[in-house]
Amino acid sequence: MTNRFRSLACANCATTYPTDFHSRCTKCKGILVARYRLDGKFPTDFEGRSMWDFADFLPPVKKENIVSLGEGWTPYVESPNFAMRIGLRHIWCKLEGCNPTGSFKDRAASLGLSLVNEWGKKGVFAASDGNAAAAISAYSARARIKCLILISEDAPTQKLAQIMMYSPTLLRVRGLYESASSLESALAQAQSVLPDWLNLFIWAPFNPLLVEPYKTIAYEIALRKEIPDYIFIPVAGGELLSGLSRGFQELREMGLLNGVPKLVAVQGKGADPTVQAIEKGLDEVVETGPPTTVAGAIRVNFGAEHSIMAVKKSGGFGISVTDEQILNAQKQIARDEGIFCEISSAVALAAISEALDHGKIRADETAAAILTGAGLKDYLSAEADLSRVPLSESVSSLSTTLRKVIAAGRTQIVA
Ligand SMILES: [Zn+2]
Repeated sequence: MTNRFRSLACANCATTYPTDFHSRCTKCKGILVARYRLDGKFPTDFEGRSMWDFADFLPPVKKENIVSLGEGWTPYVESPNFAMRIGLRHIWCKLEGCNPTGSFKDRAASLGLSLVNEWGKKGVFAASDGNAAAAISAYSARARIKCLILISEDAPTQKLAQIMMYSPTLLRVRGLYESASSLESALAQAQSVLPDWLNLFIWAPFNPLLVEPYKTIAYEIALRKEIPDYIFIPVAGGELLSGLSRGFQELREMGLLNGVPKLVAVQGKGADPTVQAIEKGLDEVVETGPPTTVAGAIRVNFGAEHSIMAVKKSGGFGISVTDEQILNAQKQIARDEGIFCEISSAVALAAISEALDHGKIRADETAAAILTGAGLKDYLSAEADLSRVPLSESVSSLSTTLRKVIAAGRTQIVA
């Protein structure tokens, strides 16, 4: 097998650019996309060791330059109890929280650090308060590459502990996430101070190649031959959704699939500019005011057109859900299926329920939710109220207490 990458080109006007080009098209402002040779059949015999099984469908990296922690091939789990609870025929959960740092961002970080080796860069930088920062820091540590992470002035401490374990250089920036242009300015300044370092901010308008690893989630689902009618995808910048779309389209072109699942963009109410744009039939995302949602990993007030195009192309839709719906869904999937996902992932499950209630999907259809991160990622917000857990006053009185607990029907640890 040989690598199938052809070029990096504008999605609108097809102008081609060098592989390491870090911006929109200079002619028409379009987002750039990687193009591949898609002749022949898509291979189906893989070792299942990491997403690098699919290296021929990623930007070219020599084997010795790959930085991997075994990311990819995450579980794709049937969730019959949750499906029955909400009244849908079938639901699968793709557990991206099982990646090495606990989120889907590991796929992009693995490619990003591999490109650092391939292109001979001296370090990496990015802006992130959360999962991307953890992933990029971890893979930098693995690669022995210097790493700078710009965080907001009041970055939430839940995720900082994990990020700091990998010892990146951290710099707080006031007003970092005010708008897409404040971010762009911050990253441009970092690049000018560190010209030999690679910008790994995972957003297609800045960094088109980092969408590519998310295609492998589509490959993994398709190779399981359990393809849902709909896939519900939490959206911040839109890279995950756009990557899934590209993956399924490639598989269709190569004859592995006849049709592609409908992709559903999911956001929290109060931070749903992409969903609003889809509902209004716009071609671009309009920036909104300060975002508010309990789902911290997708708390954004901007987006870009690539996710809107991907939703339209698949015949999907956009939907947003309230904080209450999100937190309920997080609890229910844990109680029904033993799956503890990040709050921002539970948004996808809440949205399946909402879509069913409002007739956007039918009870006899099937859906998958991409659960982007592990529940321990924002563990401080998980309920850990000891006063709700029954207490045996001594070891010797345990059997008496236990009988009472069972008699009261409190067979779950948390009543
Ligand atoms: Zn163009």
